Amino acid sequence: MECVYQAASLLDAQLVQDALEGGGIDATINGVYLSGAIGELPADATPSVWVINDSDVTRARTIIKELLDDATSGPGGDWTCADCGEGSSAAFQFCWKCGSAKSI
Ligand SMILES: [Zn+2]
Repeated sequence: MECVYQAASLLDAQLVQDALEGGGIDATINGVYLSGAIGELPADATPSVWVINDSDVTRARTIIKELLDDATSGPGGDWTCADCGEGSSAAFQFCWKCGSAKSI
């Protein structure tokens, strides 16, 4: 396994994981701990995205780069799913949560 993306939030990590899996790459999110450990805080609660197969790392980084480029400089902006009301990045053509097609 190799870390390919350090996310700012769990939502961010999920968007990246979704994009990777959409590209046929097995990915997992690490660094998300359940709260409640007595007297102990996680040293690093920031989620990160890991690629399972090392052979997919190069392709994963390409997908993430394209994803981030689209999200920051592509036409249009974030959109809201008509079915479930979740916001999605402009880079996604389908709702990350329920899978509905982009409605605008
Ligand atoms: Zn939706």
